[in-house]
Amino acid sequence: MATVLAKQRDQTMAAVWMQADWDAHELVQVVHDRAAGLTAIIALHSTHLGPGAGGTRFWHYSDPEGAMRDALRLSRGMSYKNAMAGLPMGGGKAVILLDQKRTRTPAMLAAFGDAVEALGGRYVTAADVGASEADMVAIRQRTAHVCGLPVDAGTVGGDPGPLTAMGIYHGIRAAVAHKLGKDQLKGVRVAIQGCGSVGGSVARLLAKDGARLTLSDIDEGKARALAGEVEGKAVSPDRIMGTPCDVFSPNALGAILDDAGIAQLDCAIVAGGANNQLAQPDHGDQLHDRGILYAPDYVINAGGIINVSLEYLARERGQHSDINGLRERIAQIPVRLREIWQQSDASGEGAHAIADAMARKLIGRR
Ligand code: NAD
Repeated sequence: MATVLAKQRDQTMAAVWMQADWDAHELVQVVHDRAAGLTAIIALHSTHLGPGAGGTRFWHYSDPEGAMRDALRLSRGMSYKNAMAGLPMGGGKAVILLDQKRTRTPAMLAAFGDAVEALGGRYVTAADVGASEADMVAIRQRTAHVCGLPVDAGTVGGDPGPLTAMGIYHGIRAAVAHKLGKDQLKGVRVAIQGCGSVGGSVARLLAKDGARLTLSDIDEGKARALAGEVEGKAVSPDRIMGTPCDVFSPNALGAILDDAGIAQLDCAIVAGGANNQLAQPDHGDQLHDRGILYAPDYVINAGGIINVSLEYLARERGQHSDINGLRERIAQIPVRLREIWQQSDASGEGAHAIADAMARKLIGRR
């Protein structure tokens, strides 16, 4: 076990600044605690606007270099996301490298909590893929710099999924108005990839407005159940990207907008919550060239981080959480998107490039 961990550590650190996703990150730390059986990476991309906030991914990486790629890429994404959401937070991300059985122990969580605490608040963690609210509660035993903890209903904080979905719903409405000139969703055809926490909530919100939904999930039973609930149609996962629709809404995996994925699209708009949808930046150009309106993922999916960041900031300041402040910030998501699309229309540049430039300016980078 110790040899495997040491090998993982060495492979993950191999010339980090040579990696394609290196972007002058402020700090990249490999946490290696033999006794606790923990190998993790904490990456702080930028603390220009405040402490670097972003979740911890619990994942088994068959290739440990993939863990470093994720930490570098996702932490930069968090800098962009937090800046564009107007939060006083920078960008950070952590990954915990699990074994094949995805073993996690209280000792690992405690050691990870100690590593976050040792950064003295420069990094604030939360749950990401593979992590649960219970994991955050365990980490909280060792550090205050964690958010997404259980909260009472009707207050700020807790599960970020429904608030992420709320932002996406407002973003889709704004996209439909901008691209199709429609101020309501009745009859608008939306194809949703992924029927989990985010995709499921997006579907329910759209259905209330009379949108016509096509749904898919690799768990086909889940897609069928949701289709029954929202009076939509379930299709197999390999058919969703080619479904003729007004809006394609990716809410499952990243990097689905690659050459093959874009070639399949038969939509006017791409607007959904999955992180890192563009396999490469030039895939944003391909969407633009095809006349497809793109809602940059880190702008439209910021509802969840807004929710848990406000929970963290209120706790830090000893204040009550402000549910109106949360609603106001989520209402800014479509405002920001419209700003991006208007600049894109005026300049002829793709929405992805406009958003990246805006975000980099906000964090003091070129
Ligand atoms: P989730 O695990 O609850 O749901 C994801 C769903 O996608 C699952 O039902 C899974 O079976 C399905 N899926 C996986 N691969 C698929 C495929 N190829 N085709 C169709 N379905 C597939 O996760 P979630 O919290 O809903 O997050 C969804 C996406 O949104 C992720 O990319 C996540 O990083 C991103 N995101 C989530 C939040 C949040 O608040 N939860 C915030 C920002 C971004």
